Amino acid sequence: MLQRNPGFANLTAGYLFPEIARRKNEYAKSHPDAKIISLGVGNTTEPLTPHIAKAMSDYALALGTAQGYSGYGEDYGSSALRKKIAEEFYPGENIDPDEVFPSDGAKCDIARIQTLFGREVNVAVQDPSYPVYVDGSVISGAAGANSGTGYEGIVYMPCTAENDFFPDLSQVKKNSLIYFCSPNNPTGKASTKEELSRLVEFALKNECVIIFDAAYSEFISDPNLPKSIFQIEGAKRCAIEVQSLSKPAGFTGVRLGWSVVPKDLKFSGGASVNKDWKRLMTTLFNGVSNIAQQGALAALDEIGRREMRSVIEYYLENARIIEKTVRKWKNAEVFFTGNSPYLWIRFAGQKSWDIFDKILDECRVVITPGAGFGPAGESFVRINAFGHRADVEEACRRLEKFEI
Ligand SMILES: *Cc1c(COP(=O)(O)O)cnc(C)c1O
Repeated sequence: MLQRNPGFANLTAGYLFPEIARRKNEYAKSHPDAKIISLGVGNTTEPLTPHIAKAMSDYALALGTAQGYSGYGEDYGSSALRKKIAEEFYPGENIDPDEVFPSDGAKCDIARIQTLFGREVNVAVQDPSYPVYVDGSVISGAAGANSGTGYEGIVYMPCTAENDFFPDLSQVKKNSLIYFCSPNNPTGKASTKEELSRLVEFALKNECVIIFDAAYSEFISDPNLPKSIFQIEGAKRCAIEVQSLSKPAGFTGVRLGWSVVPKDLKFSGGASVNKDWKRLMTTLFNGVSNIAQQGALAALDEIGRREMRSVIEYYLENARIIEKTVRKWKNAEVFFTGNSPYLWIRFAGQKSWDIFDKILDECRVVITPGAGFGPAGESFVRINAFGHRADVEEACRRLEKFEI
């Protein structure tokens, strides 16, 4: 028989979210009447706005007519959409539509980006971080073997309350791929301009490439905080940004994201990363659904932007409601910045999965154990603010009395 890709054998326990689902289902089986509320997996709950839904439904119906039908689209995505993204998301950054690549989502782009750099690349991740950076590196072979405390080919950069959730970069090797997420999932930290300048400076000096995950940029409410890495001087020479309409516009099921790969970004031999990315995207990816692209165009016009804003405000209000409740907890430290839909909570000396089980058992609320995001997430839990208001309020009533 064929040999198994060794990367799969190197993966540790299951992916975090399936494990959460497994525990939730097990609990539901033994407590059939329990009405479980999930504030765990970061999945959006509020409907698409009418403007976006109509744009997609009109387009889908037109596909059933001779005049409205279209097959494969333009090579790197609709040029109208690429232009719109450049204007709306990078107004002061001079991003050329040729540097914008619409895709089926940020997670998919993160996975594909690894192909650009091959398995020999060094990898650095924030710890804790979105599991895809590590697991994707493991599957691609870049992470190397698991030493028991982490992967040999990965440098974990602890982001803790003590360093205000911005990592010490000094351990990162030269020529590394640095995954960096701001506002951060799970910690909620939105890095400042000064911090991101330090990151860019480090990358330029040490010939690193930053994969900047900006999936939550629209949740930033403090106008002084950068929403894109390209707001930082020099970033076009050392960064790729991935973005998504999943969280701000509820496109988790529709699927639309994009990457920005600047023309100034070069491999060590001087070859253009943008050119290889174009080649990769046309070779291994056949474009985003045209219906989703139509939805994205609607999301980015004036009405769409306004409606998107109100959905984000709704989730942020959920977050503030949850914050009020959890601030009453004894023995817990709450980290909430107001710039992301996540609350990051520390129970010093406790194990994250124990807290997860206890909250599920006593409150019938599903949250996310911080340890699932990396070793530095131990003792923390993440609560997300995606949910219908009534469910969030009910969850808060139950959580109010929680004690450890
Ligand atoms: C949800 C999430 C994504 C996923 O985006 P998709 O566009 O739905 O693939 C990417 N990055 C982070 C940090 C996320 O939390």
